[in-house]
Amino acid sequence: MGTIILVILLGLAVILCFRAATVKKPALPKASGQALAEIDVNKVAERLSQAVQKKTISHTDLSKIDWAPYQSYVDMLVENYPLVHGTAERELVNDYSMIYHIRGRNSDLKPVLLIGHIDVVPVEKTTEDQWEQPAFDGVIADGFVWGRGTMDMKLHQLSTLEALELLLAEGFTPERDIYLGFGHDEETRGELGAIAIARIFEERGIEFDFILDEGGGVTKGAFSLLTKPMATVGIAEKGITSIRITVEGTGGHASMPPRNTAVGLLSKLIADLERQQFTPRICAPVKEQFERMGAELPFYFRLLTANFWFFGPLFKRLMVKSPVGNAMMRTTTAATMIEGSMAHNVLPPRATAIVNFRLLPGETVPDVVAHIKQVAGSQKVEVESLIGDDPSLISPSDSEGFKRIENTINEVFPGVLVSPYLVMGGTDARRYEKVCQNIYRFSPMVMEQEDLGRIHNVNERISMENIERSVQFFHHLISDL
Ligand SMILES: [Zn+2]
Repeated sequence: MGTIILVILLGLAVILCFRAATVKKPALPKASGQALAEIDVNKVAERLSQAVQKKTISHTDLSKIDWAPYQSYVDMLVENYPLVHGTAERELVNDYSMIYHIRGRNSDLKPVLLIGHIDVVPVEKTTEDQWEQPAFDGVIADGFVWGRGTMDMKLHQLSTLEALELLLAEGFTPERDIYLGFGHDEETRGELGAIAIARIFEERGIEFDFILDEGGGVTKGAFSLLTKPMATVGIAEKGITSIRITVEGTGGHASMPPRNTAVGLLSKLIADLERQQFTPRICAPVKEQFERMGAELPFYFRLLTANFWFFGPLFKRLMVKSPVGNAMMRTTTAATMIEGSMAHNVLPPRATAIVNFRLLPGETVPDVVAHIKQVAGSQKVEVESLIGDDPSLISPSDSEGFKRIENTINEVFPGVLVSPYLVMGGTDARRYEKVCQNIYRFSPMVMEQEDLGRIHNVNERISMENIERSVQFFHHLISDL
């Protein structure tokens, strides 16, 4: 009996090690030999600075928006990119969102769509004095363009136009049609921008070969065992919903309270939701990312990533220990707001809380509602979804489009590991699912861990090197089409 167990264990060890030892590093495409475009970085920086100075600040209440800078942004593009505007057909959508169409030689090929947004998030009043340079002056100093929108995502958006302008000057005509789609309300869910643009494409029956939006970038040190910088290309994004949970109680004077107040019952429910989290899962984009990373990691770690069929439970247990890993493994639960009585000596007739959930692909908003009710058990609660976006579909990482993006990354950022990944936040990209199966999210910039904290935050800025690479990236990608 003992011998049989020993043989089985030995066999298992051989299989695990064999799988880990035979993981192939992704074959790097042959360098095209095509030199990267010469970019006049200072000129691009100046145009980016101009863009930052247009305060295209988003607000969920449209009546609070000053539309003049949006108009001025649209006009600025016409002025700064004359060849694009002389060649492409441009159409405005809801005044400030834009579609550009450049016709290619072969109308049988599916077109490609590059998307972006021109709006930015506001600057918190209380943080204004923490900025090393004012947020909307577009200061160019110390090798950076400073200001709100430089990273998210005016450089990315302008780079598509910069690259096209350069290519048109070289007499370029693309093989296939190229579309650009710029929304003006991405930060507030894209009703007027991305959603409207996608609807137009749908009505016209246009289907895209692939779509590229903002998303991952080239980061260093995201995973301590990985020495190479990693370029992450989003192939899916998590869903988001905020749920209002209401518990009814008995109002009245606080001098003779019932055993459980509405606040107490609601608090218990929130604590239960934190304890009874969604089951962790290794969804496809995360699995792919770790399998790709595995090739570059020490053997003992590859043993794990090459054998999820065996080590999956251990992997999940390790991952959920950190907030980042946890967010990759499950639909997360974050209680963000809570409200009871309006006075210190009055019992609340009802208590409400808002819990924000970020949904892993495969789960839906109704699943979250059902989960809350199941955790509440016999406790009577009212559950209402305030906003709800299901997770995106998962785009394949072996499509032609993905390969084109991957090739371009390898040319512009030599020596990086390119990997698919799951985007934690929301982008405009998901709005285009009816017109494209291959939707990718990548921002061509190198970011240190510290830079990631600047997005939607103080001291947002972009380096001259990133400005150059960003334009080179789109120049290479578009000329490859
Ligand atoms: Zn953005």
